[in-house]
Amino acid sequence: MIPSEFDYHSPKTIPEAVALLERYRGEAKVLSGGQSLLPLLKLRLGQVSHLVDIGRIPGLEYIKEEGGFLKIGGRTRESTLERSDLIRTRYPILADASAVIADPLVRNLATVGGNLAHGDPANDHPAAMLALGAQVVATGPKGARTIPVDRFFTGLFTTALAPEEILTEIQVPVAPPRSGGAYVKLERKVGDFATAAAGAHIVLRADGTIDRAGIGLTAVGPTPIKATEAGGYLEGKKPDEAALAEASRLAARATSPTADRRGSVEYKREMARVLAGRALRRAIQRAGGR
Ligand SMILES: Cc1cc2nc3c(=O)[nH]c(=O)nc-3n(C[C@H](O)[C@H](O)[C@H](O)COP(=O)(O)OP(=O)(O)OC[C@H]3O[C@@H](n4cnc5c(N)ncnc54)[C@H](O)[C@@H]3O)c2cc1C
Repeated sequence: MIPSEFDYHSPKTIPEAVALLERYRGEAKVLSGGQSLLPLLKLRLGQVSHLVDIGRIPGLEYIKEEGGFLKIGGRTRESTLERSDLIRTRYPILADASAVIADPLVRNLATVGGNLAHGDPANDHPAAMLALGAQVVATGPKGARTIPVDRFFTGLFTTALAPEEILTEIQVPVAPPRSGGAYVKLERKVGDFATAAAGAHIVLRADGTIDRAGIGLTAVGPTPIKATEAGGYLEGKKPDEAALAEASRLAARATSPTADRRGSVEYKREMARVLAGRALRRAIQRAGGR
């Protein structure tokens, strides 16, 4: 339970933090809420020589709509997201996801940016962000760049962030009229990581047909999965049971789960199908479709 020795840095600005990451490239890690990194270090599943704590940099925790995006500061805590009226009323898929992450103690410290940057396919926010078509802002020595979330998760616990970059903001396209989303998770007990989970985001046309559908899946592959074929299939269709059943089947086909103590490959794939269907139905309901 005691990590190996490291130097602790507490920069006060982003440029200072980036400079430290650059100076100790390959030997340093960003420390945010610490809810994934500290357990790894304590269990000695990982080792690091320099921890760059971004927790004392002001201005990284916010939720606002601006310039066509919902903007979430990279160090916004899960508990802040969960309590936000803007999130609850206009982006309920994100409130759904926050509410099923761990427990209130963890959510008081864990950050949304950390949830994405960790690159864990069992984390809950990645699938919700994939469904929403979000992008992240990565700030490094050369300034800021945006990375679409569907290109962010490059492998197991691996992301498109360079070692000297900090995830400073998450940007979600502003919720258009007649849109809705939902995140549904199967867990063995409250607070557990997902056996499988699904997020869905739907935009309806004035005639009630589906204009856009985004579906993200959790814990059923080496990375969080965007079920692109399933989403594309729904576009232009009436949101009836036959269409939703086919989309759920296509979503399950995009998975490549591994067997573990949470279930067999077949069970997880079947749960992905069932959960995708539930998330889609709830998203359509929230979009005002049924
Ligand atoms: C008991 C327990 C239960 C949990 N259950 C769940 C669960 O059900 N669902 C779920 O999704 N998660 C769960 N988690 C994991 C945890 O909540 C998330 O991974 C957490 O949100 C990570 O955020 P953090 O700020 O704590 O990141 P940290 O632990 O500080 O960092 C995690 C990783 O991301 C990197 N990082 C963090 N922030 C940034 C940034 N802004 N820029 C660049 N890199 C960054 C760090 O270098 C590190 O590699 C659980 C954790 C615990 C302890």
